Amino acid sequence: MPDSPNPQRVMTYRSVIRSQVEMAQPRWRSSRLSGRRRGGVLPFPPVLVLAVLLFALFLAAPLHAAERALLSQAEWTLVEDSATPWSGSELDFQRVEQHALNLGPTTGNIWLRLTLSQDDLSAHGRWLSLRWPYFRDIRVYLVDQRAGGSAQAVVEVHEPTALGGQIELPNHPGWLLPAFKGERQVLIHARADGPAALALSLGTLADERVRTLMRYTLFGIYFGAMLGMALYSLFLMVAVRERTYLGYAAFLVSLVIYVGVRHNVLTPFLPSFFQALPPAGRSQLAVALVALMGIWFVRRFLRSASDDRLLDRVLLAVAWVALASVPISLWLAGLSSFLLVAAYSLAGVVAVIWGAVRAMRRGFRPARFLLLAWSVFAMAVLLYLGLLLGILPYADWVMLVLPMGSLALALLLAFALGNRIRHKQAEEAALARERDRYRFLSERDGLTGLFNRRALDCRLEVMVAAARRNEEPLALIVLDTDWFKDYNDRYGHLAGDDALRCLARVMKDNVRQEDECFRYGGEEFVILLPGHGVREATVVAERIREAYRHSSASDLGPGGTVSIGVTQFRQDDTANTLLARGDAALYHAKGGGRNRVELVH
Ligand code: GH3
Ligand code: MG
Ligand code: MG
Repeated sequence: MPDSPNPQRVMTYRSVIRSQVEMAQPRWRSSRLSGRRRGGVLPFPPVLVLAVLLFALFLAAPLHAAERALLSQAEWTLVEDSATPWSGSELDFQRVEQHALNLGPTTGNIWLRLTLSQDDLSAHGRWLSLRWPYFRDIRVYLVDQRAGGSAQAVVEVHEPTALGGQIELPNHPGWLLPAFKGERQVLIHARADGPAALALSLGTLADERVRTLMRYTLFGIYFGAMLGMALYSLFLMVAVRERTYLGYAAFLVSLVIYVGVRHNVLTPFLPSFFQALPPAGRSQLAVALVALMGIWFVRRFLRSASDDRLLDRVLLAVAWVALASVPISLWLAGLSSFLLVAAYSLAGVVAVIWGAVRAMRRGFRPARFLLLAWSVFAMAVLLYLGLLLGILPYADWVMLVLPMGSLALALLLAFALGNRIRHKQAEEAALARERDRYRFLSERDGLTGLFNRRALDCRLEVMVAAARRNEEPLALIVLDTDWFKDYNDRYGHLAGDDALRCLARVMKDNVRQEDECFRYGGEEFVILLPGHGVREATVVAERIREAYRHSSASDLGPGGTVSIGVTQFRQDDTANTLLARGDAALYHAKGGGRNRVELVH
């Protein structure tokens, strides 16, 4: 017996297995998966949302075009204590000399002072507008300087409750200045306890009405698009049973709440306790909601709980800080809570980008889309934070980066989700293939490619039960090669293997499709022939015996001969008794001189 393994033979053995696996696959593949469309789930019609985004930008562009900016001719100062306009006029003012002012996080009372003439009002209009919804206690005074600083010289201008008879909509703070002759000094007071940036402008009431309508159209489009996508994703969640879509919807709704609160357009629809909070506190609560929902969504999207424990811990830590900021925002709303909120927002945005990069590195392809979406959002957040922190100058368009950025985020995340579903389907399909492959291998004999002993135990039980139930015949053939030990001794073990493979091929070639061939043990085989009685089985057995005898198992010579026992199922049979009778028939064949077929009824 040659004792050195032959690599070529090993290769042959492997390729037999591989070809068997490939052959079997179409039969084993689950029909549920192959029936599914490859394209995956298309997100909310993206072209529509893109069109909405462009339309919104188009509307936003002329939002403040018709006004005259006033701050460049104004003076400002910041004082600790709330001051009256009488003392206010004596404070130490400095010139602004810019169209807008951004003081960053500020605590205190801001006073603005500028002089307006009768001509200014008639040229530009009487609507004085202050853009910055964070201030509290905003008051506007007109001072008649000719009256010499007496109390009668100062007139407070009250904010109108409705914009010239229009429906009452919350907007930027604004005042309709009374008509006057000559010149008046305008004194404006605002209390800041957080980010303080402002722009001041003069325009006509008609312009202000158009602007208000455009603003609300814009926010209407924004809310409609966002809530539409959120709703659509809820349908998708039900359709594809994927809870990440719920996280997406919740995240979108939280963004809508934040933008609505921040721009003061949702306030009338919010619960009264919320309305009673200072504006900064409201915004901070909404940011905490965005952070919690965003982190929930991202953790689900990137499967960080199972796939990336470190990222998961970081995201959870940010979420805990966001949660802890809620009572701080409620009771301590001010500079410190603003800085806390700014810090965890920044940390959250950076953590998600870091997590998406990590997920891409480990081969999770949908993370690319998340990274793209999140980068756009991060840019908007950074711009906005830059404005709030006083690093960037105030500009009206920066006030719109969060609505625009969150809309773009929602759109790109929809792509990301579609891609993720496709990825998941592909993973499931690969898993199913792998499962089928293992099942296939676990039932196969490595040498011959026939079913193995384990598969025989299983199939024999099933076939015996079916034969009994349907009262149909079932034949069983047991084969054993003759003097196989001698054959091995003479030609070597590898030639013996060839002979066994040859016998397996002969068996397969001589049975019907519905018959099943098994390698029972070393050089023993079994064939199950459902629907056949002992007579037909004997014919088959004879055919195999003859064919094997005349086959050439390898270059070395003939495979030898085979002894065969044949029997058939009886109504009182179990799998074991049937097999035992087959063995007995084989024993007869051996005893009768080998190379023959014997049957036992
Ligand atoms: P008999 O005619 O009575 O069946 O004699 P036999 O020599 O065939 O029977 P025995 O049970 O004495 O020996 C079986 C031999 O089959 C021993 C073993 O080396 C060989 N054999 C079992 N499995 C394999 C195998 O996978 N490859 C090879 N080459 N030989 C095997
Ligand atoms: Mg044997
Ligand atoms: Mg034998």
